Amino acid sequence: MTNETLEKYDLDHASIVAWLREEDPARLAELWARADAVRKAHVGDAVHLRGLIEISNHCARECGYCGLRAGNRDLERYRMPEDEIIACAHDAKTYQYGTVVLQSGEDYGITAEWMASVIRRIKTETGLAVTLSLGERTDEELALWREAGANRYLLRFETSDPDLYRLIHPPLKGRPERSRIEMLRALQSLGYEAGSGVMVGIPGQTYETLARDIETFRGLDLDMIGIGPYISHPATPLGEGAWRRPIDEHDQAPNTELMTYKAVALTRLACPEANIPSTTALATINTAQGRELGLMRGANIVMPNLTPVKYRALYEIYPAKACINETSGECRTCLTARIRSIGREIGQGPGERKRRSDA
Ligand code: SAH
Repeated sequence: MTNETLEKYDLDHASIVAWLREEDPARLAELWARADAVRKAHVGDAVHLRGLIEISNHCARECGYCGLRAGNRDLERYRMPEDEIIACAHDAKTYQYGTVVLQSGEDYGITAEWMASVIRRIKTETGLAVTLSLGERTDEELALWREAGANRYLLRFETSDPDLYRLIHPPLKGRPERSRIEMLRALQSLGYEAGSGVMVGIPGQTYETLARDIETFRGLDLDMIGIGPYISHPATPLGEGAWRRPIDEHDQAPNTELMTYKAVALTRLACPEANIPSTTALATINTAQGRELGLMRGANIVMPNLTPVKYRALYEIYPAKACINETSGECRTCLTARIRSIGREIGQGPGERKRRSDA
């Protein structure tokens, strides 16, 4: 594909909204084909695997959407010991994944020094790329973890609408409030590859907002962008319908599989070089084919789960999460087969973001 044809897809706000509202299957088939062609031209056919280790489900926050929120007293909490995390990283090495992703609730029981030593051990013992997704932490902590060898950080801004964000993601008492966008910029200046993303179909999220989310991805020049459907969790204020933002029902972006594919495809057009996962949330709402369809409509990354099975069900950010009873080995076999079934190959090496200017 030539540069000239790629430029045609530099979408403005009105056309992103129009695509999000598009229902005609023939037009949508055109969108999927465009997104797939841009994906192939910029990031190729390799699907990189990032082994996900859910290291703790403790959380200090009260996010209205997430089952890990501190107020959910019914959830049994865990924090993985260092040796278990290291063992999972060795599994990733054995399975030839290029990256491990360490994710948790916003857990201040995870001290900066402890985390730094875990990162150092993973780097020394496996040499894998390390991605962190530990919520909002200070610049000092982020700098320490970067020095310890962490390569990337994932922090979804969840929605670009400031009022909706404040409603669903209340500030933490006793800590300075700082926007996730600012933290993403700090990560970039510390030399991290920065990843962000949103949920699709949060109650109170309009088509316009979702279009602005995609424009925000482009403005931030993100290296990684994760997009999944919002899935209602009954033990949360959003799931109970308690924290409602009154909007016209015709403006509400639905939390459907189709809307998620539209957002993924448009994000690929807006950010051709980004690493975009086909998410577990998408696989949760379509267990049969969600992963594959995400990969065929713009995505190029999959995150197989490496968390020991005894913890899986406890990392319940939303209910009925895909793959909670599968062992790490089963996840690997299943995902590898799914990737090959659509004619794609397994990526080798760390799979960092490649810029066109690097080529
Ligand atoms: N504590 C970290 C990691 C959170 S889990 C942080 O806040 O960054 C990773 C992502 O799961 C979140 O960023 C959010 O987008 C998604 N998530 C949480 N609850 C969800 C829900 N009910 N439905 C869909 N996705 C959800």
